[in-house]
Amino acid sequence: MKRIVIIGGGISGLSAGIYALQAGYEAVIYERNAVPGGVIATWERGGYKLGGCIEWITGTNPKTELYPMWQNLGVIEDGQKFNEHENYSTYYLDGKTVNVTYSLDSFRKELLSVAPEDEKAINSFVSCVRKLQCINFPAKGAFKYYPLHYAALACEMLRIVPVALKYYFMDFSRYSRRFTNTTLKKFFSDFFAPNESILAFMASMGIMTSGNGKMVSGGAAEIIQKMSRRFTDLGGKLMLNSPVTAISYNGRKVDGVIVGGEKVTADFVVSSCDPYVTYRKLLSGAFCDKALERKYADSEKYQTRGCSNVFFLLKGNCKSLPHRICFLCEPFTAGVTQKKRLSFISLENGSSMEKDERIYYVNIDQFDDDFRYWEALRARSAEEYSLEKTRMAQDVRSRIASKLDFENNGITCEVIDITTPKTYNFYTGGYNGAYMPFVIGLRSLPAFYSNKVRGLDGCYIASQWINPPGGLPSAAVSGKFVIEEITKKDRNK
Ligand SMILES: Cc1cc2nc3c(=O)[nH]c(=O)nc-3n(C[C@H](O)[C@H](O)[C@H](O)COP(=O)(O)OP(=O)(O)OC[C@H]3O[C@@H](n4cnc5c(N)ncnc54)[C@H](O)[C@@H]3O)c2cc1C
Repeated sequence: MKRIVIIGGGISGLSAGIYALQAGYEAVIYERNAVPGGVIATWERGGYKLGGCIEWITGTNPKTELYPMWQNLGVIEDGQKFNEHENYSTYYLDGKTVNVTYSLDSFRKELLSVAPEDEKAINSFVSCVRKLQCINFPAKGAFKYYPLHYAALACEMLRIVPVALKYYFMDFSRYSRRFTNTTLKKFFSDFFAPNESILAFMASMGIMTSGNGKMVSGGAAEIIQKMSRRFTDLGGKLMLNSPVTAISYNGRKVDGVIVGGEKVTADFVVSSCDPYVTYRKLLSGAFCDKALERKYADSEKYQTRGCSNVFFLLKGNCKSLPHRICFLCEPFTAGVTQKKRLSFISLENGSSMEKDERIYYVNIDQFDDDFRYWEALRARSAEEYSLEKTRMAQDVRSRIASKLDFENNGITCEVIDITTPKTYNFYTGGYNGAYMPFVIGLRSLPAFYSNKVRGLDGCYIASQWINPPGGLPSAAVSGKFVIEEITKKDRNK
């Protein structure tokens, strides 16, 4: 039996491992950390499970192509339960409450109740979202093997084209000008990054309101546990605490990986760590992907998104708090950037909590300059780094406690952990601590990258980075497609 060695036990590595076993290969995953999961791995603090802060998984609608893939990966089982909150998000704005609901009709009513005078603009927004509900992320196989299938899929999604053409290059601030009501203007401008496309928000709403973006009950912890179990049940070996230090090759053919100073032989190597690590470190820069290199070289244009997270333990009268609360706040600094809004989100981590306890977290967007700031601070002094994290967390805490009036509502709120993009970079080696690939925005279009390491036979890449737009589906699909690629090549020999 031929052996595929997979580097990394995140979503893309586990997906590649499961598909490799099903295709009849021996599969071994080497993961550098003590637990699988990569950027959504979970950890414990004071007996509470933290991390894995994902909010949804695309592909929960059984009519989509992603659904059978998630079933095959063990993530969606028969009778699968999803966490369904009444609302996805609750915005507190100008003394009003705007709920982003899972039903598009209810969301329309919600917007109309805030701004009846903007009915025309609201209907136009809702109509765009409705057209985007047909988004069906391709997961059957690579385009080159199924061109007719892709053509049929494109026909099914034709309704998207006029919306995409009209709104891709429109940012939130320009879009918000079509509303006359000041609260709606703020809703559509102040909660999003200024250079982001309104289309991204419309598409997310389309996915969510069509039942295609739900959360598996138990959250990231359950997703990782199910995929790992599926992999090992099929006979795969998951080697933890096993960092790969190099990919080994002879001439132009890969022949294994180096782990703990020893060579492990392989017929194929699939690297699922961040391609920056694969090309620059594990292959010592010998086979770099030129398209990726061009982007690393222009970091002004090609930004990456990471995050700082602050985790809170809430006790007391907290059960009735909305699942996700967003509000504008007094500015505070995170990294080098001033922030003026907060999203306070309940952590779906499968932990069984006492009745009067909940874990919430705040996810703060961080970009390349912020990463460099945290990295330099950490290198200069562990103490200063820790103090600055604490300062940021206390700034966040005081704004939340005052907005939600914890004191009078009988809620105590304690910071129990803080992460920065440097934390992600430390644990997964990811480029600039990013948890998503290059930001798709007004200046940078989505791009695919090769899943073969060009010039090195038998060496492949599976990662959210090569398969836009990034996120769980991109990662899982990249694992599936890379095994399809290997299988086709192997059979043709
Ligand atoms: C806070 C947060 C919220 C998110 N929310 C969502 C969401 O709501 N929906 C969504 O779809 N996506 C979300 N994402 C994104 C999603 O989690 C990622 O797209 C996905 O998990 C990436 O998986 P990956 O396998 O490609 O990469 P990674 O998770 O980075 O996996 C790479 C693995 O390789 C390992 N590795 C690296 N170097 C080595 C080495 N030398 N040897 C061995 N192993 C190595 C790493 O430790 C890691 O386990 C979120 C991510 C974060 C962090």
